Amino acid sequence: MSGAASPAGAEGDAAGEAPRPAPAAGGLDGILRLGEVDIRLSEARRRRRQAAEQAAPQEARVADARRTLERLAEQLKQGTLEAKRQEGDARAKQAEIEKTQAAINQCRNNDEYKALLEQLERRKAELSQLETAVLEAYEAQDRRQAEKAQLETRRKALEQDLSEARKRVAAATGEVDVQLAGLEAERAAARAALDAQHAAVYEKVLAQHGDSAVADIVDQFCQGCFVKVRPEQVSQVRGGQIVTCFDCGRILVFRGGRTA
Ligand SMILES: [Zn+2]
Repeated sequence: MSGAASPAGAEGDAAGEAPRPAPAAGGLDGILRLGEVDIRLSEARRRRRQAAEQAAPQEARVADARRTLERLAEQLKQGTLEAKRQEGDARAKQAEIEKTQAAINQCRNNDEYKALLEQLERRKAELSQLETAVLEAYEAQDRRQAEKAQLETRRKALEQDLSEARKRVAAATGEVDVQLAGLEAERAAARAALDAQHAAVYEKVLAQHGDSAVADIVDQFCQGCFVKVRPEQVSQVRGGQIVTCFDCGRILVFRGGRTA
């Protein structure tokens, strides 16, 4: 490790007397600056996403209440139809009973009379069942109506919560948006300070790695992927050159300058 590093270090010390190529050194510093802005930008964007999601639970609760209310409205509609159908059946049964009653009144035959009486009793029992069903159907409707009224109240409260949560989201995102605008401007300036070639390398690496295109070298290890950096690369970075990690492809730097 030290054996591999010392020739490069010695070379670097010897070269330290001669002027280093300024554009390359400026490039590395510029990349470091841009990298720092991009990290802050990506943090701000994450905060923006978090802020935007703050009202998600309230949105879900309101959507839930609305769905339950829709279901209840449908049940009420079906319940009304069902109650009306039961009422119709009860009326038809009543008409049958009246017919049987009339037949009984006109009956002169004893066996027929007995049969009609049995029919009358059966139909009366059926009517009684139908009337119970009608009653139950309306009771079920009353329960649904009460449930609906309760849910309407709850929905209104939830909508109020949601509207307040949305206000908080607007305030929080607005605040982050101001920071983002500042950071975007900072980034544009840092990007403009780079020459085209370095900017292209940087943007390519950034596109691959999302938010961090720059990795520190600590004890000769890339802090982006923790793979050992080749000694000649270490000295190249010390010399202010733009070097990318062989393993992860990030631009290698010594944080705090090239004196490390
Ligand atoms: Zn790496």
